[in-house]
Amino acid sequence: MSDDAGVGSDAGGGVTPLGDGVWQLDLGFGGRPGVIAAYVVAGDGEVALIETGPASTLPALLAGLAGVGFAPDDLTAVLVTHIHLDHAGAAGRLLRRAPRATVHVHPVGAPHLADPTKLVASATRIYGDRMDELWGEIAPVPAQRIMPLEDGVPRAIAGRVLTPLFTPGHASHHVAFWDAAASTAFTGDVGGVRLAGSGYVCPPTPPPDLDFAAWEGSIRRLEALDARRLCATHFGAFADAAAHLGQLRENLARFRDLAAVTLAAGPGAGGDQAALTARITAAMAEALAADDPAGADPAAQAERLATLEAATPSYMAAMGLGRWWAKRGAAERGSG
Ligand SMILES: [Zn+2]
Repeated sequence: MSDDAGVGSDAGGGVTPLGDGVWQLDLGFGGRPGVIAAYVVAGDGEVALIETGPASTLPALLAGLAGVGFAPDDLTAVLVTHIHLDHAGAAGRLLRRAPRATVHVHPVGAPHLADPTKLVASATRIYGDRMDELWGEIAPVPAQRIMPLEDGVPRAIAGRVLTPLFTPGHASHHVAFWDAAASTAFTGDVGGVRLAGSGYVCPPTPPPDLDFAAWEGSIRRLEALDARRLCATHFGAFADAAAHLGQLRENLARFRDLAAVTLAAGPGAGGDQAALTARITAAMAEALAADDPAGADPAAQAERLATLEAATPSYMAAMGLGRWWAKRGAAERGSG
């Protein structure tokens, strides 16, 4: 794939100023608005990005950056919440164009940015021949340009102090970034997925790291911030942190229970991954419909569900839950 082609190249670049020297970029993933965001933060002559999105939407990322008034040359730091391809997939290719930038990432994620071989192999097992279309070329980040984060140890970046909070649950190496002065938390995926204008907070539960206990600890950590604003990668800024995180907790328990009930039946009795996927899709659709301010227009509902599925596919959620269930069963058999 060339440097300027990609699944999101014709639909992204939407820039929303959030104040405090923060801008939200819509990367137009899959040709849709409102699926994957990146955030530009600027101050003191520095410019940083929080999340890069996938390599497939790099043109939209650069267009958004230009829309804010910056060139890749201006970038001094790139922070990623975790190394999943929808969050950090463009890091290597972006750094080729951003000679001054360093990448800030959880130490467990760092080696996979420097050598994405394993990351690409495991993603290829899931996405097969749709890899390139979805994610684009995954380039390595030069190791000397990676600055591994330490939990709770603040960094002065782009005119502010950003504190990395190690927040496992969705991924074991997940980091949220806390800007105390602006009372803003950049929550990656551990803060859930929520469409713009929706009240439904959907937990993204992909393989292989899903950990309910760790996730609950991370939700508590985010709640303790008493943030004025949560900035989710999927998608946007939300001012009702307490309600949002409470919803996430409830819906995470709901997915766990749905998986347990479905998979306990066993594959012979309809308790397989396909059944779980269907139930998760139905739960997502029902939750979206319940809070739709526009009422029950079926076309609009289908569109909202498609946007949510683009951010957190139900088959992926079912894979993660299925793996959790299998591990749990193995652990119980081991201890019993
Ligand atoms: Zn994500």
